[in-house]
Amino acid sequence: MSGPGGMLPYVTKQGTAARAAALLDLVLPEHCAGCDAPGRACCRSCLAVFGEPRQASATGPAEPTYALARHADVARTLVVAHKERGRRGLTRPLGRALAAAVPQLPAARPDAEGTWWLVPVPSRPSAARARGGSHVLALARACAAALSETGRPAAVAPALRLDAGARDAVGLDRAQRSANLAGRLRIAPAGAPPPGVPVVLLDDVVTTGATLAAARGALRNAGVEPLSALTLTAA
Ligand SMILES: [Zn+2]
Repeated sequence: MSGPGGMLPYVTKQGTAARAAALLDLVLPEHCAGCDAPGRACCRSCLAVFGEPRQASATGPAEPTYALARHADVARTLVVAHKERGRRGLTRPLGRALAAAVPQLPAARPDAEGTWWLVPVPSRPSAARARGGSHVLALARACAAALSETGRPAAVAPALRLDAGARDAVGLDRAQRSANLAGRLRIAPAGAPPPGVPVVLLDDVVTTGATLAAARGALRNAGVEPLSALTLTAA
């Protein structure tokens, strides 16, 4: 089950690089993005680097973010391959790793009907186009599908939008990231969850925590209280 995100037009537009990567995936036998072993997009032992959720040190106790691995070695290789190199075969295994962690998050809970609500952190529109759609939205959908498979209904609410004009955050410190996001992270009403439901914010990597803090602020202003934030890796 997925949320109303399927209606967002940018999700279906494929960038040239992503299209080329998708074509390569069709003609080349699949191999692990972490260790190159043949067989699948991520082998069992590489996927095992994503463990129990632990609080990322860059985030404070009031707004904790949990990550499944340090942003280094195989974990970093997998996250970067998924984000930057169009390895969308990784979306499902990485989504499953997130799904295993969601019910373990200390403050997270489903809504009164038992549905877990996931809100992906948005990509810059230009980056999403180049990658053939938002990679975090894809992760959120895979996470929701994996939760549903384990008897926990889940829905994706693409409630946030990053306006054009935000810069790539690579190389920016926390203050610069906050300034970069100020006023550019908005609520997309069509993707918002029902009022008052608890949500889990998802991203692939937490660096300074500035992006997730801005996302929490934008959601809170719209009356949505994110109880937890979860990422694959923490830098
Ligand atoms: Zn591997």
